Amino acid sequence: MHPHLNAPTLEELTDFTLKSYVKLLKYLNQIYEIVPFCKLPNKDGPYLILRHDVDVSLPAALRMAQIEKDLNIKSTYFVLFSSRFYNLHIEENMDILRRISKLGHEIGLHYYPAIYRLYNQNPMKTLKVEIQLLEHLLGKKIHSISRHGPWDRDPFSRIKKYINANHPYLKGYLFVHESDRAWTPLQGLINLLNNPPKRSQLLIHPENWQEDKIDRTTLLERHCQDLENKILSLKKRTLEYYKTDPLIVNYDKMIQKYKTGQFQSLKHKLNNEKNSKLRHALDYYGNLSRYYLINTVFGWKANQIKTMIQKMFNKSRLILS
Ligand SMILES: [Zn+2]
Repeated sequence: MHPHLNAPTLEELTDFTLKSYVKLLKYLNQIYEIVPFCKLPNKDGPYLILRHDVDVSLPAALRMAQIEKDLNIKSTYFVLFSSRFYNLHIEENMDILRRISKLGHEIGLHYYPAIYRLYNQNPMKTLKVEIQLLEHLLGKKIHSISRHGPWDRDPFSRIKKYINANHPYLKGYLFVHESDRAWTPLQGLINLLNNPPKRSQLLIHPENWQEDKIDRTTLLERHCQDLENKILSLKKRTLEYYKTDPLIVNYDKMIQKYKTGQFQSLKHKLNNEKNSKLRHALDYYGNLSRYYLINTVFGWKANQIKTMIQKMFNKSRLILS
């Protein structure tokens, strides 16, 4: 193991540019076999599981997935159904997810125990529902899961059916994560670069890595601006819909007519025709219903009712004709 490429400096590792990410990957790729969770090797390594929890941005995840593909590296992207920043049920997002998958990366489920508790269901059932949904979206089996919110108790920490990124059997691994642009533990990162363990897991949040050097607050502003742009575009589309949807357009026209009194005159006309044939017909229909009721309550004989109805019918026909 004699890496000919230099390790990125701490300065580079903390500027969170994609250029530095490429440098980091190239360096790690010389030392480790880099794998997604679904391809855990049986041998001793050194290997490194590359993990991404997609909390904020699918486009950022796709950008990172493409960079890795160009370096011939495969990793796992865990996606969340309850993100406040993106919705997997939007066509363009499904499309991005499928593209990441097509680049050869593994897609896993990022689950959020705090939300599962709100459902008041067996958390295992909810997990299965989300996994099935994700499998339907991708047309592929899901093998791995990771928990969102490390502050939370993990209901699936000992699950057997799926690979849990936080499973105790991965405890022997050196686990280094970059969350909110903080490397934790920092010493772990230094060891990962200089003193390679046999097994390690590196978690990178794709949205934290940008083309340009910006600070954490500016990055947050950028993510919020993206969200705001999405809301504005939704507003524009909805306004356009109000103007063109026939149901809404016709309804508004009708209401306008009502307000300007065109319907008032129609109502007035109906009220003045109290003796009209229509009115009589309606009254007789009412009588028929009443006699039917009397029959069921007082047990009138069938032929009595029949005669009664026949009389009514003749009378109403007379009036209607
Ligand atoms: Zn997360």
